[in-house]
Amino acid sequence: MGSRVTTNRSRSLGEATPPGSHPEAQPWIQVWLEAGPEGRVFTYANPDGWAVGPGDLVRVRLQGRAHTGLVIAAEAQRPAALEGKAVQPVEGLVQRAAIDPRWQGLVEAVAQACHTSTFRTLKGALPPGWLGQRARGRGAGTPQELILIEAIGPAETQQGATERQRALLDHLGRHGHKRLLRELCGGDGFSRAVVEGCERRGWIRRRRERLASAAPPCWTGSGPRESPRQANDAQQAAITAITTAPAGRALLLWGVTGAGKTEVYLQATAAELAAGRSVLLLAPEIGLIPQLLDRCRARFGGGVLEYHSGMGDHERVAAWRRTLEAGAAGLPLVAIGTRSAIFLPLARLGLVVLDEEHDGSYKQESPMPCYHAREVARLRADREGARLVLGSATPSLESWLRCRGPAADTQLLELPERIAQRPLPPVRVVDMRLELAEGNRHLISRALMGRLRQLPERGEQGVVLVPRRGYRAFLSCRSCGEVVLCPHCDVALTVHRRPGGQEWLRCHWCDHRQEAGRSCAHCGSGAFKPFGAGTQRVLEQLGEELEGLRLLRFDADTTRGRDGHRRLLERFAAGEADVLVGTQMLAKGMDLPRVTVAAVLAADGLLHRPDLRASETCLQLLLQLAGRAGRGERPGEVLVQTYSPEHPVIRHLVDGRYGNFLEAEAALRRRGELVPFSRACLLRLAGPSASATATAAASLATLLRQPVAAGGWSLIGPAPAPVARVAGRSRWQLLLHGPAGTAVPLPPEIELRDCLAKGVSLAIDPDPLEL
Ligand code: ADP
Ligand code: ZN
Ligand code: ZN
Repeated sequence: MGSRVTTNRSRSLGEATPPGSHPEAQPWIQVWLEAGPEGRVFTYANPDGWAVGPGDLVRVRLQGRAHTGLVIAAEAQRPAALEGKAVQPVEGLVQRAAIDPRWQGLVEAVAQACHTSTFRTLKGALPPGWLGQRARGRGAGTPQELILIEAIGPAETQQGATERQRALLDHLGRHGHKRLLRELCGGDGFSRAVVEGCERRGWIRRRRERLASAAPPCWTGSGPRESPRQANDAQQAAITAITTAPAGRALLLWGVTGAGKTEVYLQATAAELAAGRSVLLLAPEIGLIPQLLDRCRARFGGGVLEYHSGMGDHERVAAWRRTLEAGAAGLPLVAIGTRSAIFLPLARLGLVVLDEEHDGSYKQESPMPCYHAREVARLRADREGARLVLGSATPSLESWLRCRGPAADTQLLELPERIAQRPLPPVRVVDMRLELAEGNRHLISRALMGRLRQLPERGEQGVVLVPRRGYRAFLSCRSCGEVVLCPHCDVALTVHRRPGGQEWLRCHWCDHRQEAGRSCAHCGSGAFKPFGAGTQRVLEQLGEELEGLRLLRFDADTTRGRDGHRRLLERFAAGEADVLVGTQMLAKGMDLPRVTVAAVLAADGLLHRPDLRASETCLQLLLQLAGRAGRGERPGEVLVQTYSPEHPVIRHLVDGRYGNFLEAEAALRRRGELVPFSRACLLRLAGPSASATATAAASLATLLRQPVAAGGWSLIGPAPAPVARVAGRSRWQLLLHGPAGTAVPLPPEIELRDCLAKGVSLAIDPDPLEL
C-alpha cells in the first residue's frame, strides 16, 4: 500500500511541469488519489526511474487495487516519516502533463476565492472519474496517427491556384491554418487531388500527430457548412468590438430577446478559430446545449465538443482528454457546456462566452467550491488573455454595475432592437381579482382562454408558464387544516397524477414518494383537500375548457434523459401541439418563430419570495418568457395573470425598459447597503439532528465572532435555514456581512471544520445568490 505521509492541509500542488518537458527521474513520488471530499496524498517509490513530475497521471496501487493518481511532487529524499517502511512502487505512466501550470494556477485562484482547499477545488474541476481512468493501452484505446494539414507561406506566393485550391487555402485560413486531413476530405468536402495539388506546390504540408486515444469523434466533420448571416449594424458593431477588444477584456452584450446575440457569438467565434484560438461557449442549462451545438456544428463542422453534467462520466473524461490532445496538436476547439465546462483545459483560449449570464444556474451551491462560473470566467479570461462576453437580455445587476462609473471594468455593448425591427410583444396584465369577482373560478382567465382558442386556426402557437410541476401544490387535512409534509423534510408534499388519474405524493426536495390518501398525521382524519395548481392540473383544465387544442407538457418530469428537452421541443417546433405548458425552463433561450402568445399563470408565486434578489430574478424570468413571443414574422403578445397587478415588478414588465428597473433597483440596494453594495458570505451547516447541528453552529459562531469583527464585518445568526430539514438532515446557517470589495475575514477552512462534531458538514458560500 502507498504510505500516507502528509495530510492535504499542509500541501499545495507544487510546480507543475510545462507540457512536453521531461523532468529528471526522482526516487520518491507524491501522488494525489481521489478519495473522500478532497482526495488524499500518498508517497510512492520510483524504482524503475519513470521520468514523471507534477501534473502527470500515474498508475499506483492502494490496498491492492489499481488507481490512477495525480503526481504533485517528485522528491530526491525519502520522506522522514517513511524511514524503515516498505513503500509501493509507481507502476506506470497514464498521461503526461495532464495538468499544466496555468490551469493549476486557475484552480488555486478559485480555491482561494471560494475559501477552500486546492484539492477540493481540483476534485470539483476535474471530470468525475478522471482519476478512475485506466492506464494507457487498456480501455482508453490505442494510440492512433492522424494527419494534420497545415498551411504554409504567405498568400502572395500562392499564384496560379485553381478555384478549388484557393477554396481549400481560404478554408484552412478560417481554421487557424490547420485541419485534419480526414476532416478536409470528409465533411469539408475537398478531394484528395486538391489537397495533393496544394501540397506539391508547397502551400501546405502534412504533419503526423500521434494521439493517445482512438479517433476523437469531435474531429469528424459533418455536412455542408452554413455561412454566416449578414449581420445588421448593431450586430456588426458588437462583433467588431469583441474581436478588436484587448486580451483579457470583459464585455457585456445586452441585447433584447430576439436581437440575434447568438449570431454575434458565432461570428466572434469564427474570428478566434481563424486565429487558431479556442472558444468556450457556456449556457446555464443542459436544455440549451443542443441548440448551440447544432448551430456551431452547422457553422464550424468538426472541432466542436460538448461538456456538461448530462453526459456520463466516461463521455466527460473522453471530452477532457480530447481537449488536452487538441491542445497538444495545436488544433483550436469550440467547447460548449454548462458551468463546470469553465474548467476545461483548452490550451489557447481566445474567447469565453456566457450566454444568459444573469442565470442563477451558473452558481454552484454544493459541494464546495461554491463558485460562480461568471467569476471563474473573469479570472480565467484575465489570466489567459481571453476576451469574455457576458450575454443577456436581462443582465444581472452585478454585471451591469461593472459597466458604469469610473471604476468600470466591463464594456457595454447593446443590441436594442429585435432582428428585422420586429416589435417586442406588448404585455397585458390580467387582474385575477376581477376574474373572481366576475364569477370565473378557473385558473385560466377568459382573456387567455380566448387568445389560446384562436391559435390553431391562425397556425400559431403559445407557451404557458406555471411556476410548479406536478398536479397540485399540496394537500391539507379537511378536519384540522394540517398540510401533508414530507417525512424527511420540512416542506409540503406535491401531488402528482399517474396517467390513469390516480394521485400520489412526492417531495421535490428529497424525492420521497408515497401514496396519497393516508390518514392525517395530526388528527387521523382521512379526508384531504388539494390546493394550488401545477403543470399537470393546468394541462387538464385547458384540455377540458378548450376542446381540440393540442397540448404538451414541458417540465422536469417530461424531459428526463439526455435528449429529453430536445425531443420535446422538436415535437413542439414540428407543430405537434398548439400550446406548450411548462415550468421556468420554458422561458429560457428557445427560438420558436410560430409562438405568438406567452402567458404566465399565478405570477404571484414568483413575486412574493423573501429574497434580496426576488424582484430581479422574477423580472428576468418574466421578460425572458415574454421574449419567446413574436420572434417570427407574426407579432406576439404576453399575458400575465396576477392578484397583484400593482406590484413594481409587474409595472416594470409592462414598461418593458429593463434599464429603468436596473436604475431603480441599484438605488434601492445602494441605500440599504445591500449586495452588491456590500458583500455576504453564507456558512451552511447540515447534521444528523437538530441539536447536533445547532451546537455546531453555536461553536462556529463563537470561533468566528472575533475575526469577523476585527475584519469590520458582522455576523448574523446562527439560525435554522429557511427549510430547516432536508432528507433527514437538519440545516443551520450563519451569515457574514461586510463592506463591498473587502475579503471575507474567515479563518482557514480547516479551523472551521475542526470545531464541528462528526457528521456535521459545512459549506462556505461566498457571495451566495440566495440570502
Ligand atoms: P437572442 O439570443 O438575442 O434572443 P437569437 O440569436 O436567437 O436571439 O436570434 C433570433 C433570431 O434571429 C434567430 O432565428 C436568428 O436565426 C435570427 N437572426 C439573427 N441574426 C440575424 C441576421 N443578421 N439576419 C437574419 N436573421 C438573423
Ligand atoms: Zn388532520
Ligand atoms: Zn423530502
